[in-house]
Amino acid sequence: MSVVPLRSGVQTEPSSGHAQPVAMIEIDRVSQMFETSGRRSHLALSDISLTIEDGAFVSILGPSGCGKSTLLYIVGGFVTPTAGVAKVKGKAITGPGPDRGPVFQEFALFPWKNVLGNVMYGPRQQGVKRAEAEAQSRRLIEMVGLKGYESFYPKELSGGMKQRVAIARTLAYHPEVLLMDEPFGALDAQPRKRLQNDLLNIWERDRKTVLFVTHSVDEAVFLSDKVVVMTRSPGRIKEIVDIDLPRPRRRADLLLDPHYQKYVVDIEKLIDDVLEDELHP
Ligand code: ADP
Ligand code: MG
Repeated sequence: MSVVPLRSGVQTEPSSGHAQPVAMIEIDRVSQMFETSGRRSHLALSDISLTIEDGAFVSILGPSGCGKSTLLYIVGGFVTPTAGVAKVKGKAITGPGPDRGPVFQEFALFPWKNVLGNVMYGPRQQGVKRAEAEAQSRRLIEMVGLKGYESFYPKELSGGMKQRVAIARTLAYHPEVLLMDEPFGALDAQPRKRLQNDLLNIWERDRKTVLFVTHSVDEAVFLSDKVVVMTRSPGRIKEIVDIDLPRPRRRADLLLDPHYQKYVVDIEKLIDDVLEDELHP
């Protein structure tokens, strides 16, 4: 039984004869200029073009300040790009929508609601009947490994547990696209690995489209179909690396796999190049 109801199918263009992968997100020549009080206007993103297929797991890596969060905010509809266009399923993004679920670090849980209340909030807002919303939410809580904690309040949970609740809460909306901005950044190594495994299990079953920002090269390679490496100031795409490793992926197997190791080394080298270019432009 699928815990999360399958999302509705996305149609390909009726005219296209062959089964081409559907572009879930298209970022087309997007630039983002910020006007700041202290300094001149700042070009945070410059001419970013990226197509993300339906069901793909795409990670973004790059030095801090290169515009990773800005890019996620643009796809989330929280920021309108100053040039170019971002589209979801072929339509220009004009604001946030239930098809794109953010899991941002700064999106705190409701402190006055317990775990179940936090997860049920979305479906209840969407008009799902209480009993059904509760049943779905309980399954999601179990799926993220928090069975038994339904009545706990955020202040009673560790950072890792709160992050699990945040993921369950976002999944409860059934977004087609998950936007995850360094969701595991604040976690210690062990809970981080567990959550990576859990996220992969959820993703391998549901195949949601995921746009995932991280600082960790291994995390990006372990999880992703594509890794986008960015440069800083202005943020541009340095390279897009296709991660052609079989799925389902198991950490223990991958760590011994020379292909996996090569991806990690190559991407680390790309990031070194980015930093080197900054020092010696
Ligand atoms: P990252 O997530 O890669 O660390 P951000 O997207 O947060 O980078 O920021 C990219 C750049 O844009 C940074 O130089 C940051 O200071 C600037 N920036 C981000 N948001 C704003 C804003 N609302 N106003 C002005 N500058 C901003
Ligand atoms: Mg950021």
